[in-house]
Amino acid sequence: MEQVKIGKFIAECRKNKNLTQAQLAEKLNITDRAISKWETGKGMPDSSIMLDLCNELDISVNELLSGEIIKMEKYNQKAEENLLEMKKNKEETDREMLRLEIVIGYISTITFLILIFIASFVEMYSVIRILLIIVGSIIFAVGVINAIKIEQTAGYYKCDKCNYKYIPTYKSVLFAMHSGRTRYMRCPKCNQKSWNKKVISK
Ligand SMILES: [Zn+2]
Repeated sequence: MEQVKIGKFIAECRKNKNLTQAQLAEKLNITDRAISKWETGKGMPDSSIMLDLCNELDISVNELLSGEIIKMEKYNQKAEENLLEMKKNKEETDREMLRLEIVIGYISTITFLILIFIASFVEMYSVIRILLIIVGSIIFAVGVINAIKIEQTAGYYKCDKCNYKYIPTYKSVLFAMHSGRTRYMRCPKCNQKSWNKKVISK
């Protein structure tokens, strides 16, 4: 999505409504800095505020995301393009998150092993030894919790029985047997247990 184009469009619509950034911000209950960020293309309104913003500016969400007023006959085509674009963006973010999961996993495991190694083989007061083990374990636990959180929310799991794609609960991901990213879980649609593969697109 072209943030700069969308930003200019927001500024243009705001001026057409004779509103200053501060006045629009007040109507939306947000800071005028947020508006200036959108208008300069440095950020996008989040989905929670998009509808209110569009109401204030008298435009549709479709037009906002396109960064222009859309003629009636082009409307559906534009809507589909925007949907596809959003889907693509989500898939890219999910892929990045899954790469991040691997990095988090490695860093926390290696840090844990180094600290345990030092605690086991270097001479030190036993208080420090215990502290090292505790710190190492905390780093490891935080790493695992975050890695699993990413694995739960990025992309979908695909049921092997009915091919349904879904986002499972954190608990079911945490306790499921797994081999790599494939997890043995119960599908919420067909209610059968199977090995569910991680997939990026719905
Ligand atoms: Zn299923």
